[in-house]
Amino acid sequence: MNTFPRFVSRSEIISNISTCTKNYAYFRISNNRRRYCAVTVSLSTKSAEETLVVVGSGAAGIYGAIRAKTIAPDLNVVVIEKGKPLSKVKISGGGRCNVTNGHCVDNVILAGNYPRGNKELRGSFFNMHGPTDTMSWFSDRGVELTTENDGRVFPVSNSSSTIIDCLLSEAKSRGVVLQTGKSVTSVSMTGGGKFSIKIEKRTVDYVEYIEANYMMIATGSSEQGYKLANHLGHSIVKPVPSLFTFKIDDFQLVELSGVTFPKVRVKLKLDTVQKSIPEHTQVGPMLVTHWGFSGPVILRLSAWGARELSESVYKGSLLVDFVPDLHIEDVKSFLIQHKNKFPKQKVVNSFPSEFGLVKRFWRFILEHEDLVGDLLWASVSNNLLISIASHLKNCSFRVKGKGQFKDEFVTAGGVPLAEISLNTMESRIQPRLFFAGEVLNVDGVTGGFNFQNAWSGGYIAGTSIGSLATVSDLKEGAL
Ligand SMILES: Cc1cc2nc3c(=O)[nH]c(=O)nc-3n(C[C@H](O)[C@H](O)[C@H](O)COP(=O)(O)OP(=O)(O)OC[C@H]3O[C@@H](n4cnc5c(N)ncnc54)[C@H](O)[C@@H]3O)c2cc1C
Repeated sequence: MNTFPRFVSRSEIISNISTCTKNYAYFRISNNRRRYCAVTVSLSTKSAEETLVVVGSGAAGIYGAIRAKTIAPDLNVVVIEKGKPLSKVKISGGGRCNVTNGHCVDNVILAGNYPRGNKELRGSFFNMHGPTDTMSWFSDRGVELTTENDGRVFPVSNSSSTIIDCLLSEAKSRGVVLQTGKSVTSVSMTGGGKFSIKIEKRTVDYVEYIEANYMMIATGSSEQGYKLANHLGHSIVKPVPSLFTFKIDDFQLVELSGVTFPKVRVKLKLDTVQKSIPEHTQVGPMLVTHWGFSGPVILRLSAWGARELSESVYKGSLLVDFVPDLHIEDVKSFLIQHKNKFPKQKVVNSFPSEFGLVKRFWRFILEHEDLVGDLLWASVSNNLLISIASHLKNCSFRVKGKGQFKDEFVTAGGVPLAEISLNTMESRIQPRLFFAGEVLNVDGVTGGFNFQNAWSGGYIAGTSIGSLATVSDLKEGAL
């Protein structure tokens, strides 16, 4: 029989206490100050039944809960969620949900997309459940997916609701119990080695306790989740933001707002941090915004330098090569050729097409050289040509802060990977405690990698818990 803890009113407690003869029955009657009561009632008639409590119903928590319940149908799987389930999936990918990345089949290349986790995730992690498995998981359940040219995978419906509906209906049909509007606020261990989990409702004075045999912390970047891990003996790598845009100190940039560069090379030098940022040079598309720079190349740089950028309070210099495919000598000779070919044209009106630049940006470069007005190409000195060439190859901008990026944003930091086994996602410190998703010190660049970490971790944790529960069920049956 499928059982799970049920929360009841105070009057119900009195009539039900006699039936609460099973593993656990916790209750707290109201005191004078706070009129709350709490009880956890096992409706089980089978003493062997075990309970898994998953904290957090994000991608990792729901996926993990489904997997555990699939492997061990007799396991009580309860997911506690303080807000709404899968709320980040809802807003992800601009409402389209970039589920995973379909271009990375090699584990080493795949792991290279995780600034935190790139060494550790090279091993078996994605072998156990990688992007292809994720895509099969959803398509087996009727979700049609499409892979874009850059590898990003989306539902064909272009709506994150398709992913949410699939996950929630799978959870429901498997018998996963989802309780929303409730926070797990603390946890301790009982003498019998179980988790005693305190649950509170935000809006009313109401406290509940559940005793669980297994616990999965899948709380994303929530402070409360880190505290729970900490109570159970884990350390926390200081959380800092990742995947953000740069605020640039250059009032002339406003004129370029909206301009995209299909390919630039960027390099970051921070003010106060001496050590070099890993992968501090990136090549890719860049976008100019009202306040600075955005686009894949900047987001990647922000991710790789997340910790160092935080230490330097997001202040430094950004060197941009606007013509990364051309050597500086080629840039110079294209400028000379252009000068010789169009001596009577105004510099502001024409420039070598080989640079692939837009007119607005060419004007911006000229303004930086104090070159405005009616100057003709014939009058441009060789020194000026050299100066323009070096500006195009090595243009320095002052980074003055961190912008906001609304499409995707993650947290670097959390539970260190050294404190868990990546083969099972079980804690090395507290047996039967599992972690999955962003609560761990893992984060990826944009492109579906962050959800993939959540799916893989949830799946592995769910598999481990389900297997443990099945083994203990078998043992009980043999007695
Ligand atoms: C705007 C935005 C867009 C994004 N788009 C993409 C994308 O397209 N592709 C991609 O790969 N990644 C994307 N990401 C990143 C991705 O959303 C996260 O990496 C992913 O959601 C992490 O999943 P998770 O399950 O670990 O954590 P979360 O999704 O954060 O879920 C954690 C859940 O735990 C709950 N919780 C926390 N503490 C408690 C507690 N004490 N008690 C009860 N419940 C608790 C929270 O309410 C939350 O629902 C995006 C992020 C943002 C912010």
